[in-house]
Amino acid sequence: MVVLGAGFGGLELATTLAASPESLEVILVDRAEGFVFGYSKLDVMFGRAAPDQVLHGYADLVNPGVRFVSAEITAIDPVTRRVETSAGPFEADVLVVALGADLDPSATPGLLEGGHEFYTVPGAFAAADALAEFPGGRVVVAVTSTPFKCPPAPSETALLTHEYLTSRGLPADITLVMPLGTPIPPSPDASIAVLAAFEERGIDWVPERLVRALDPARKVAILSDDTELPYDLFLGVPQHKAPRVVAESGMTVDGWIPVDPLTLETAYPQVYAVGDVTSVGTPKAGVFAEGQASVVAARILASLHGSPDGTEYDGRGVCYLEFGTDQVAKVDVKFVAGQRPIGALIGPSAELAADKTAFGRDRIRRWFGRDWVSAPSTGR
Ligand SMILES: Cc1cc2nc3c(=O)[nH]c(=O)nc-3n(C[C@H](O)[C@H](O)[C@H](O)COP(=O)(O)OP(=O)(O)OC[C@H]3O[C@@H](n4cnc5c(N)ncnc54)[C@H](O)[C@@H]3O)c2cc1C
Repeated sequence: MVVLGAGFGGLELATTLAASPESLEVILVDRAEGFVFGYSKLDVMFGRAAPDQVLHGYADLVNPGVRFVSAEITAIDPVTRRVETSAGPFEADVLVVALGADLDPSATPGLLEGGHEFYTVPGAFAAADALAEFPGGRVVVAVTSTPFKCPPAPSETALLTHEYLTSRGLPADITLVMPLGTPIPPSPDASIAVLAAFEERGIDWVPERLVRALDPARKVAILSDDTELPYDLFLGVPQHKAPRVVAESGMTVDGWIPVDPLTLETAYPQVYAVGDVTSVGTPKAGVFAEGQASVVAARILASLHGSPDGTEYDGRGVCYLEFGTDQVAKVDVKFVAGQRPIGALIGPSAELAADKTAFGRDRIRRWFGRDWVSAPSTGR
């Protein structure tokens, strides 16, 4: 079993396969130093955690059933299931592509020169420094293209920026530019709660628009409708695309890997894809990647016995939503192909902030075989 990518999807899949009583050789390949939860980027950005507190090094992955290979994947042949890497080739009986979405800040003119992106690990850590030095003023939080990971994250960033600045006695004039019509489209209740929180804090909500460029000299963001927004600090979500090695493999259609939404099978026999790299129809978020990985693991294990497994992906995920001031909500969402997605709001409350910390701790214990002792908690 060769699993490409040790992110949310790849770690869940490799761990589940390795825990089965079958004697499987599970090879997990990733080029990064370690895993960082998406939401941990916000913890670092807003001073709740130090960078080394949120990086889970692959060198310390303790799972005797998983062979972790630290390497760059340079070519994937989905027909022969042969993968070329900087650590040599691998030939898989079953191949799973869990390589996520790559981020391209340079694709938005002016973003690197005149603003900050907070979606890559180095970008979020650099944004932490920029926020720490910021004397307050006009902040624009904006999305630059679709699709983008974790659709609630820009709203959380606007709310947490407000908390961060006002708790330091600094002026906070915050605008959020989003391509969506409501903050959390599948959950009207969550959208109402988020919009109310924006109104209470005086955060300007600019829906159904993107920022297509920055003019660093004039410090203005140029929107998709050609209007301009002046800023003192710009926090942007950069353009997303499938990793180059995936695009070059010929597996993508319209930029992402199409899969059967119930089984996560690609068009190639014994090749699956999970998570952000697919166009499965759920938002790009870790909880969906994890749910898809569980289904793929169940199907692979069943097929080893020659009995096709009936497990199908149900499109469900529970996302946490930070409101700031130690308040966290949960949105329980379900995406079923051909149906309108539905999502229920639970909270926000301080109890759910503790729940979120436990969620992260549980994953690290299962995936890495050790405790996340220094897990940041939302409350301070
Ligand atoms: C600010 C922010 C907040 C977020 N908050 C949440 C949240 O609260 N809840 C949630 O569910 N999701 C959240 N997300 C989204 C979540 O992080 C991603 O959707 C999730 O990690 C996707 O999982 P994945 O397994 O598809 O890909 P990833 O976790 O991105 O893993 C892909 C892996 O592939 C590796 N890789 C890529 N190319 C190569 C190559 N050529 N060679 C070797 N390795 C390679 C990468 O190093 C990476 O480790 C957030 C994201 C951000 C940016």
